Amino acid sequence: MRFWYSGEMTEHLFYQDPLARTFQAEIREISRDRRELVLDRTLFYPEGGGQPGDRGTLQGFAVTNTRKDHDGKILHILESPLPEYMPEHRPDYTPDDTPRRTGESISEGTILTGELDWDHRFDYMQQHTGQHLLSGALFRIARANTVSVHQGAEITTIEIDLQTLPRETLEAVEDEVNHQIRLDAPVRTFTVDQRELEHYPLRRPTSRTGTIRLVEIEGIDRVACGGVHLPRTGLLNLVQTVGHETIRNRLRLSFKIGNRALRDYRERHREITRSAALLSCHPRDLPHRIEAGQRELQDLRRELRLRTEALARHILGAADSPETPRELLLEKEPEELLKALAEEACTDRRRRIILVNRCGGEALWAIVVGEDHPFPQEELRRKVLAPLGAKGGGKAPLWRGVLPEASPERIRTMTRAFLDLWP
Ligand SMILES: [Zn+2]
Repeated sequence: MRFWYSGEMTEHLFYQDPLARTFQAEIREISRDRRELVLDRTLFYPEGGGQPGDRGTLQGFAVTNTRKDHDGKILHILESPLPEYMPEHRPDYTPDDTPRRTGESISEGTILTGELDWDHRFDYMQQHTGQHLLSGALFRIARANTVSVHQGAEITTIEIDLQTLPRETLEAVEDEVNHQIRLDAPVRTFTVDQRELEHYPLRRPTSRTGTIRLVEIEGIDRVACGGVHLPRTGLLNLVQTVGHETIRNRLRLSFKIGNRALRDYRERHREITRSAALLSCHPRDLPHRIEAGQRELQDLRRELRLRTEALARHILGAADSPETPRELLLEKEPEELLKALAEEACTDRRRRIILVNRCGGEALWAIVVGEDHPFPQEELRRKVLAPLGAKGGGKAPLWRGVLPEASPERIRTMTRAFLDLWP
């Protein structure tokens, strides 16, 4: 049986055998830039119905996408322009292929061997067929209609016309679909005239007219669909629900389908086993151990803050009278100590102090001028910061920033300029 549609120049091999990976076809058209080819027959599915276009090779030349143009022609999009002549020996795939000779011209009429990127195609047939089963089970078990579907590179999402779904219902849907996978039910596609549709009850009505392609999963589901499907449900292996969110009053469910679900289980198992080993606990105790660890970390942070504040009070208390402008130089101290010192310095209205903490090539500085003194904003900019290219600013009584290339000489120059503001 040949699958031709009126007005189309390419035979749809992808509908005849969904598990075929290689084929031979004659070039019908080559675009002017030689980046798009139309063939007389093809296994490359053109993107549509949420399924991406196929990728692969034609006589070894990479095909990055397949799509229909506005006339319905199936375009094979090449990664780089098709050469005028065979550049070298190109791979052949079946014994009766005519070997391609170097120098043979490539033009309309040339026969090419095509090969699908099978991992890509098989993955998306699993996503698409899995989505049929999931939408069917959601309809039967939860009376939920599928509103939209997205087949992403990582997950497949199904949006339904409900706002919420109890966890048990979602688990029942997942169990039902995995049961249908184990049944290894045949998936059949056939076309009917729209007048015959009444004999084929569909899960969701179709707005298509004329000849309509139906997809029937034996004893399970029947819808109108133009995609490519697995021939049996057993090839799906597994489906797994991985998330849900409510968007614009609709529930969007996320799934790992087919080999993606198996890979996901393997990765999760590895990650969880490793995490449990790091915390020396059983995987089931992980949430409890992580919560306990977070609480402990919070307590330690609080303790550290209190001790840093106490240290800052002690350092400033040991200083001379706060009435005297002064400098305080630190070397590689934690940022928190400089912050605590600056905050502590702000509590005394009489204080005038410059704090500098040198870390590696630069230094963090803080300047406090208490409320008993007018804040020397202009002079700070002009006499202390600008000559050294120091960055920073703030609001009285506290300014802070960074001094680049913080050599001891430059730090001294900066602190002296600050102290000179009060001769
Ligand atoms: Zn379909």
